[in-house]
Amino acid sequence: MRSNKLAFYDTLTGLPNRRLLTDRLNQAMMVGARSRRGGALLFIDLDNFKTINDTLGHDKGDQLLKQVAERLVGSVREGDSVARFGGDEFVVLLENLSEKPETAAAQTRTVAEKILVMLNRNYQIENCRHYSSSSIGAAMFSGHDVAMEELLKQADLAMYQAKAAGRNVVRFFDSAMQTAVNTRAALEADLRQGLQRSEFCLYYQPRVDCAGHLTGVEALVRWRHPVRGLVLPDTFIPLAEDTRLILPLGHWVLETACAQLAVWAKRPESAGLTMAVNVSARQFRHPDFVDQVLAIVDRTAIDPSRLKLEITESLLLDDVEDVIAKMTALKAHGIGFSLDDFGTGYSSLAYLKRLPLDQLKIDRSFVRDVLTDQNDAAIARAIVTLARSLDLSVIAEGVETEAQRDLLYESGCAAYQWYLFGKPAPIEAIEPFLVHG
Ligand code: C2E
Ligand code: CA
Ligand code: CA
Repeated sequence: MRSNKLAFYDTLTGLPNRRLLTDRLNQAMMVGARSRRGGALLFIDLDNFKTINDTLGHDKGDQLLKQVAERLVGSVREGDSVARFGGDEFVVLLENLSEKPETAAAQTRTVAEKILVMLNRNYQIENCRHYSSSSIGAAMFSGHDVAMEELLKQADLAMYQAKAAGRNVVRFFDSAMQTAVNTRAALEADLRQGLQRSEFCLYYQPRVDCAGHLTGVEALVRWRHPVRGLVLPDTFIPLAEDTRLILPLGHWVLETACAQLAVWAKRPESAGLTMAVNVSARQFRHPDFVDQVLAIVDRTAIDPSRLKLEITESLLLDDVEDVIAKMTALKAHGIGFSLDDFGTGYSSLAYLKRLPLDQLKIDRSFVRDVLTDQNDAAIARAIVTLARSLDLSVIAEGVETEAQRDLLYESGCAAYQWYLFGKPAPIEAIEPFLVHG
């Protein structure tokens, strides 16, 4: 009996160990296959156990684990199993859930959220209070629809997703999630390599005034991927932001765009053109951003007033003072600022007044339906009025037809990023426009 207990139970908490839990899981799958009822596996990992263990010592760490075990047992129904897999990893097996997958998932979520709340309460260890949250990964099963080992992996993977999502949350595994996880990992590795191998290039989209004259371009990054072909920024910019790869990428974009301005400056027909460059919030927030931009301007010896940085409203979500300080520093050198995608985001008018902006950019989503949707037309007009009252210029992006252009013109907007005139294209395709305007 004693050796039996050693073989199947965790000595510290008295909970079933991995071996016993997998036995029970196997059985649950067999029963479920007959009854058709659903089941779920929850992987629970404490978020900061290592810190507690390292700072308070193993004795107190052990006490914490015991309390966690008690709380877990108290959170589930009698027929469910709670096990300790080792360290601060616990596993809960839920059985006899609904036959309907969505309902079974909802039941599982309820239990998992209850566990999160329970584990989040303070722990009294000797005379001190401690705090610990947890992350939970959930995987659903119905009979033998997945192999047991696979199910264990799925719950584990979902648990890592929960950690990545900021901890103290529940994440579910499904195959779509697995695919997403794999794709993202591959893309990130590719992105790193792409930067090293110089696979990025800039496309340029022309901008015209109301007479149709070219006034400048917006630089838009593209990825010439050796296998995928030309990849658009919406696919990789968000990932580059998450992984901080936007810092080297954004630096390269600025450097390349400024080098192009320097080439244009040498020819009278292109010397007056402006270059708009998109800057991600993450890039702008970097403490060295101002210095980096100024160093590039210096190195390429361009006229800083030809450079326009496009920022978005997401920048204004925190530390507006820092944003204003940086903008002011760059503006003192003549660099201009445009607020991109205007009208889609935060748009706090109070902040807008304080930002040293030069331009508002009417978002493409309003321009698209400006002829058919009264609201969009009204928004476009309101943005023009607002820009005027703030003494800013205004440009519309995504102008695809002359009718749209005319309506915008009547509304008071006289600058366009005109798709008809020119889709974003490599520099070779843009050059002829420069010479002939
Ligand atoms: P954005 O800054 O709002 O850029 C405008 C996007 O709308 C571009 O897509 C452009 O090709 C597209 N567009 C402009 N006019 C039209 C039109 O009339 N019709 C249609 N169908 N599309 C139009 P793109 O190049 O795919 O860029 C998407 C977004 O990626 C950009 O949106 C910008 O937020 C981001 N991005 C692009 N390049 C960079 C970069 O170098 N750095 C950073 N941080 N972000 C970039
Ligand atoms: Ca832009
Ligand atoms: Ca935009």
